[in-house]
Amino acid sequence: MNVEPRVPTVKNPPEQFTGDVWFDPIFAPHDADQRMSGGLVRFAPGARTAWHSHARGQYLRVTEGTALIGTRDGTVVEALPGQTVYTPPGEEHWHGATEDCFMQHLALLEGADDPTETTTWLEHVTDAEYGRR
Ligand code: MN
Repeated sequence: MNVEPRVPTVKNPPEQFTGDVWFDPIFAPHDADQRMSGGLVRFAPGARTAWHSHARGQYLRVTEGTALIGTRDGTVVEALPGQTVYTPPGEEHWHGATEDCFMQHLALLEGADDPTETTTWLEHVTDAEYGRR
């Protein structure tokens, strides 16, 4: 066993996020037959991901603030600390903070056979889509 090395916080890229979002990697696969990875994601007020999907789905565990999770049918779900939201494989969605408060969630997912296909990034979420609730 080992204590995993500390990995620096990174700021998520503007191509895939609106507003300020920071990512702390928590764990990643050690071996070729491992798939699970996780991180802590912090969103500034109003910040959100672009539209995207995950090849093997994703679990989001809210740890602070109110998370907004939107899907293509126009639904925007609110999730509170202690709640876990599941997005199935291939479902296009976004996640973010409310306009008035920071939000933090754990993001837990399994990698695709080709790691570049784990997450498919799409267009940014418009203000109209973000405000739809
Ligand atoms: Mn996601």
